Amino acid sequence: MNETPVLIVGGGPVGLALALGLVRQNVHSTLFETKSEIDPHSRALGILPRTLEIFRGWDIYDRFVTEGEFLSKVRVWIAHGSRPAFEMDLGVLKKITAADGILILPQNRTERLLLECVKAAGQTDVLLGHEVKHIQQDNEGACVEVQNSGGETKSYRGRYLVGCDGAHSTVRAELGWELEGKTYPTRILLADIRIQDERDQLPWPVFAPAVPGVLAGLRYQPQHWRLISTLSPGESEKAVLDPSSIDTKVVQLLGEGSHEQLWSSVFHIHCRTSPRFRQGRVLLAGDAAHINSPAGGQGMNSGIQDAHNLAWKLARVLAGADVESLLTSYDTERRQTVLASVDRYTDVLTRYGIGAPEFVRKVTATLVSFLPRLGLLSLVAPKMGMLDTTYTQSPILSGHGRWLGRRAPDGEVTAPDGSTTRLIDLTGSQPLLLLFDEGRLPGWDPGRIKQLFHNIDDLKVILIVPPEVPSTEGAYVASEPLWQIWTPSGAWPLWSDPMVTLVGWSDDRLWHS
Ligand SMILES: Cc1cc2nc3c(=O)[nH]c(=O)nc-3n(C[C@H](O)[C@H](O)[C@H](O)COP(=O)(O)OP(=O)(O)OC[C@H]3O[C@@H](n4cnc5c(N)ncnc54)[C@H](O)[C@@H]3O)c2cc1C
Repeated sequence: MNETPVLIVGGGPVGLALALGLVRQNVHSTLFETKSEIDPHSRALGILPRTLEIFRGWDIYDRFVTEGEFLSKVRVWIAHGSRPAFEMDLGVLKKITAADGILILPQNRTERLLLECVKAAGQTDVLLGHEVKHIQQDNEGACVEVQNSGGETKSYRGRYLVGCDGAHSTVRAELGWELEGKTYPTRILLADIRIQDERDQLPWPVFAPAVPGVLAGLRYQPQHWRLISTLSPGESEKAVLDPSSIDTKVVQLLGEGSHEQLWSSVFHIHCRTSPRFRQGRVLLAGDAAHINSPAGGQGMNSGIQDAHNLAWKLARVLAGADVESLLTSYDTERRQTVLASVDRYTDVLTRYGIGAPEFVRKVTATLVSFLPRLGLLSLVAPKMGMLDTTYTQSPILSGHGRWLGRRAPDGEVTAPDGSTTRLIDLTGSQPLLLLFDEGRLPGWDPGRIKQLFHNIDDLKVILIVPPEVPSTEGAYVASEPLWQIWTPSGAWPLWSDPMVTLVGWSDDRLWHS
């Protein structure tokens, strides 16, 4: 039986993202997907800033941005109004990220692009029309029993297995786990329609406040609109899915005219998480591990962020790093992020935004509309963009300091050759040590620093100096905003524990270690 380093079950956005993350780490994988073709439905429509940063690191950012519509200003409209009710300028994120907006792109196109990138890289066996029926693991690896669309059954073996097989995950079921949490009483209707007249040019996102419950519309690609509507408690699904009921909603939102109904469905909203994301050599990612309300658009995004977190750890483990610490850290970091951040945020939006009585919703909408006017958007926007993820409880971090376990803020730097670039573009698949120094690191010598981390043979070391200090040879010069964000902690940003190949911060001077 052939053995691949990593077996991936499920070729949705998360399985494909994991395959691509592994490719960027030069790791082969085999991906099994039940369907013979990409799911044609639009589903998740927004790719959020943190996910876009990941795409930047994987060199697919430009391709995605060309394909979708990049929104850095979100203007919210009331149906038939002549002015936006309020505007959220995500440009406030520019100070900390290169991805200061949301990319509107339907999930089927996201999946197609990811699949193209995975196939082009040539390091993944993508087996469409292959359903995983059973899994097994031992001390050395994991096995899957797979049935292809012709009904033939075959077994495959890998050193690690990742279940990215969605909310009804076979892998999770085989591990004996169920998603735990709650189902909201609110049900929502989603309907995709095609509009070919001048109403396609109407501004969006648009809300119709006159109706009971929530009715909203957004345009996810030319001539394609998504309608989102809550159901009243006694309302039957059959009645709201009736084409004439959808027609009425289209008129309420966009006015009279013809349209084509492409797809519609009624959903219950859940907030549920697997009790663990790892058992031995088997891991879970994406909807297989957690599902949450679509309010806030974090479902697919958090799954891709799982994949990003896991890909480099699997690569390091396969290269001989400590299995227990790295894979346990995946479970801890991602599960806590889902529970403490994704679930809480989407829960608030669901309870006060779409599931609340009309009075509460109006108060919520008014408060949200005041955020930009009160100058509070810069506090809220990182949460909306998922840039606030923290791994402070991670077992692989050591040291202390304000930035420990937090996403490193991005910003502009001037390279030694005088060109301007962004800090995020200096990162890649290699481990990176960034040294921020105000001139207190005498005799900057990357060779000597590398010796201190001799067990990380591909370590990249970069020195960053403040704008006003005389330049050190080979150093990158931080822009003023970047320097200001990094320095207030007073801590020394260092690689904290070379024995387990971890990133962290330290208050100790490097020369003392
Ligand atoms: C209508 C709708 C609207 C949504 N809107 C948003 C949104 O606005 N924003 C957002 O972020 N999220 C949204 N979501 C959620 C988002 O679609 C999911 O979070 C996302 O699809 C999760 O990706 P995944 O790869 O984990 O799982 P999936 O997309 O479910 O992919 C799992 C894949 O595994 C395959 N599979 C399953 N079992 C097996 C098996 N045994 N063997 C082989 N293959 C298998 C399936 O065929 C499937 O292709 C929406 C979802 C729906 C349904």
